[in-house]
Amino acid sequence: MEKFKVLITEHIAEPGIELLKKQPDVELTYDPELFRDFNKILEIIPQYDALITRSGTPVTEELLERGKKLKVVGRAGVGVDNIDLDAASRRGILVVNAPTGNTLAATEHTMGMMIAAARLIPYAHKSLKEERKWERKRFMGVELAGKTLGIIGFGRIGSRVGIRAKAFDMKVIAYDPYIKREKAEKLGVELVDELDELLRRSDIITVHTPLTEETRNMITKKEIEKMKDGVILLNIARGGIINEKDLYEALVSGKVRAAAVDVFSKEPTTDNILLDAPNIVVTPHIGANTFESQTNVAVIIANQVLAALRGEEVEFAVNAPYEDTAAAKVLKPFMDLAEKLGLFAVQVACSRSKEIVIEYRGDLGEDVKPLTTAFLKGFLQKIVDIPVNLINAPFLAKEKGISVVEVKRPEGINFKKLIRITCKGENGEEFSLAGTVMDDKFPKIVEINNFLFDLTPQGKLLLIRNFDVPGVIGKLGSILGKYSVNIAGFQLGRTEKGKEAKGVILVDDDVSPEALREIREIPEILEVKQVNL
Ligand code: NAD
Repeated sequence: MEKFKVLITEHIAEPGIELLKKQPDVELTYDPELFRDFNKILEIIPQYDALITRSGTPVTEELLERGKKLKVVGRAGVGVDNIDLDAASRRGILVVNAPTGNTLAATEHTMGMMIAAARLIPYAHKSLKEERKWERKRFMGVELAGKTLGIIGFGRIGSRVGIRAKAFDMKVIAYDPYIKREKAEKLGVELVDELDELLRRSDIITVHTPLTEETRNMITKKEIEKMKDGVILLNIARGGIINEKDLYEALVSGKVRAAAVDVFSKEPTTDNILLDAPNIVVTPHIGANTFESQTNVAVIIANQVLAALRGEEVEFAVNAPYEDTAAAKVLKPFMDLAEKLGLFAVQVACSRSKEIVIEYRGDLGEDVKPLTTAFLKGFLQKIVDIPVNLINAPFLAKEKGISVVEVKRPEGINFKKLIRITCKGENGEEFSLAGTVMDDKFPKIVEINNFLFDLTPQGKLLLIRNFDVPGVIGKLGSILGKYSVNIAGFQLGRTEKGKEAKGVILVDDDVSPEALREIREIPEILEVKQVNL
């Protein structure tokens, strides 16, 4: 039997190496210092089917080009800055990583940081050990028992923090618009629908979301003002989710009693403003630093690389190698359309839908799976912080409990080929969105909730639902003008004069939450949503 040749160029934990060694179809070269000799790697790489690295091996275009047999590159860890992903994709080389190996490490670090902040343990330690003072009165803390912990982002780490906090007799509430309510309920955690409610009710707040467009600066001065006086804040997730300057000021003013932070907006750092704040416990991004998590990462990456070599499904693909076939070229504009439909739907109504129906009308080929996957890619990219691609999208959807029902109908209506998606919105109301491709090239959205449109899915837009009476657009226009938002285009769809209308306003600039609030106050406006495509 011809064996897969696997090269490891950096140190990875023993269990991962053992796992690979005992595979009958693998021949392993483990040379943990090889990353220091790039030329040697270039010399030997042509023989290998797989390469496993950490962050020290520069997986450049040159290396990938020479690796004529390479099928997969495994990164034992999360960040892939050392790997030229585009170059790998172009050559059909899959890149996989191991994002889940450190869940427990980060969870336990959060618990440690929570207690350290509540009792200011590092300050007491410094006072006694370094300053040789016996200051019992100075270190008066708060207890966790009986307090409400607010968890923002109830994923792998957030939910595990919740379980542990309950063992400390805390009441746990969570805000995460993208999970099933039952997931929280099963753990005895109350899922709240609005972030504001969590901010108002919690004594301690911890963030465990990815860093996305939506979560960057999720907690600023404005949100902190809504919190209880003396709240404790934690960020063990990603720097920038809590605005650093605003947290600094709230610690200085005493509005926030204490904070604990493991991650910073720029890393490494030794001069971040938070380092000068009072009552803050800081660590240099060590959430994942445990021996156990290194073992987990090694085993996960070994399994991912094996799966890729054997042609089995991989769970943590970072890139999506593409094939440049004629069939793929025909399908491409519909893939782009499906992706935009996903992106549109998640921002407007479907973010909590666990079942989405996709109707494929007309001849869209025998196998519509690639289109569904493209839809999921668009749908998920606003929710997760890892790059979503055509390989990992179905896995991520499964993990989030999102299922898609595909309905194929050979005949088209109005358009020869059409993709329509339907989901149930937050209040159980149905939302639908349909699109087609014009001239085999240009994706168009042609229908929003049965109202007809002719919309290029690109740029920023406001979707409004209003009573069809004169003057609405004027009022809306003047609010946008007041906030210096330039209107680039406008389309109205209605089923019947004088009833309800739907409008799409194309804008050049982001519409601020204040402007959106004012628009919502126009009596004839029933609903307004901002969509970025
Ligand atoms: P996860 O994907 O399992 O969970 C993230 C959760 O956040 C998901 O349930 C998602 O639905 C939710 N979410 C997304 N957008 C949201 C929003 N706008 N509002 C509320 N919830 C939202 O990820 P995880 O493995 O639990 O990791 C959580 C965070 O911890 C990530 O930022 C990760 O990078 C970070 N992390 C840090 C360390 C460290 O060393 N400090 C280690 C591991 C992970």
